[in-house]
Amino acid sequence: MSSGTIFGKIIRREIPAKIVYEDDICLAFHDVKPQAPVHILVIPKKEIRSLAEVGSEDALAVGHILAKIAEIAKAQGLERSGYRVVTNIGDDGGQTVFHLHFHLLGGRALSWPPG
Ligand code: AMP
Repeated sequence: MSSGTIFGKIIRREIPAKIVYEDDICLAFHDVKPQAPVHILVIPKKEIRSLAEVGSEDALAVGHILAKIAEIAKAQGLERSGYRVVTNIGDDGGQTVFHLHFHLLGGRALSWPPG
C-alpha cells in the first residue's frame, strides 16, 4: 500500500518523477530540488512514515533498500568519490514528506556536521 503523501502519488504514477530504479519493494527517483549534483530519493513502496516506524517485519525491505542504494550510487559513478545517505525523521530531523525515504547525495564534497 502506498501513502497519501506526494511519494505515494509518485508510486501510483499520479504525478511524474525521474525514476532511476524500481522493483517490488522500492522506488528510486531524482529529488525535485537537488542539493548536490546527484540527489536521489529511495523509498519503500510500503507505507512507512519514517525510520522511527520501521518494525522488525520491515528489516528485509530496509536492508534491501540499503543494498540498492549502494548499487545506484555505483551506477551513478559515486563509488570512488564517496557519497552520503541520509534519512530525516520528524520536525527536528527536517522531515517534510512523511513517507520513509533515504537521500542519496553525491558528486561534491559534503560538509559535516549538517546544519
Ligand atoms: P525530507 O525533507 O527529508 O522529508 O525530504 C523530502 C524531499 O522530497 C526534499 O528533498 C524534496 O525536495 C523532495 N521532493 C518533494 N516533492 C518531490 C517530488 N514531487 N519529486 C521529487 N522529490 C520531491
